[in-house]
Amino acid sequence: MKRILVLEDEDSIRSFLVLNLRRAGFEPVEAASGQAALERLREYPDIRVALLDVMLPDIDGFEVCRRIRTMDSRIGIIMLTAKSQEMDKIIGLTSGADDYVTKPFSTAELTARIDALMRRTGEAAPALPAEELRQGAFLLNTRTRVLTRNGHRIRLTQIEYALIKLFMSNPGKPLSRGEILTQVWGKDSGAEEKVVDVNIRRLRIKLEEDPNAPQCINTVWGYGYQWNA
Ligand code: CA
Repeated sequence: MKRILVLEDEDSIRSFLVLNLRRAGFEPVEAASGQAALERLREYPDIRVALLDVMLPDIDGFEVCRRIRTMDSRIGIIMLTAKSQEMDKIIGLTSGADDYVTKPFSTAELTARIDALMRRTGEAAPALPAEELRQGAFLLNTRTRVLTRNGHRIRLTQIEYALIKLFMSNPGKPLSRGEILTQVWGKDSGAEEKVVDVNIRRLRIKLEEDPNAPQCINTVWGYGYQWNA
């Protein structure tokens, strides 16, 4: 089941999205307001990706995103944005979105992003014994996908989980932005390298004692990032 929530208040855009997503093999569920979107999510717990327009008549898309995240850290969230909106604001340190597409976008572009997110949200737990990566205060269980620091659970989005798994699988190794993008967002996702930086910043807020002086995820200037827990 590839169920997708489509939150868009403009009827013509929503109909266009629904039609094309259906053609691409997805099962779209429609909402024309933020409140309706939250209701649809309760009705359909198997929604795996949510497309959220930002400008809405009731609560804006960022707020919808925040509310979804308080209920569900696993769902993939893509913001549908106008070009004038700032990237940082879009992915947002606090909103919890995974990706964004800028209007106007092509169906091909959008479905590539959705597919990339679905590959992660649909990743079945491997039928292997639990694998634990332990570094410093951090323990990552790759079967249950739970990260703890000194025994305390840190809640992660799918993207954040994929990032931390990549880092903890490569301790001390500088990883380029391009490499991180390919590994986490997927080879043909079309996502931009900036999205890596914003998600790293958000991850630092969750992991680091002082996110402004990171000790775990170090910046390798002009290149990428390096994990040193
Ligand atoms: Ca709108």
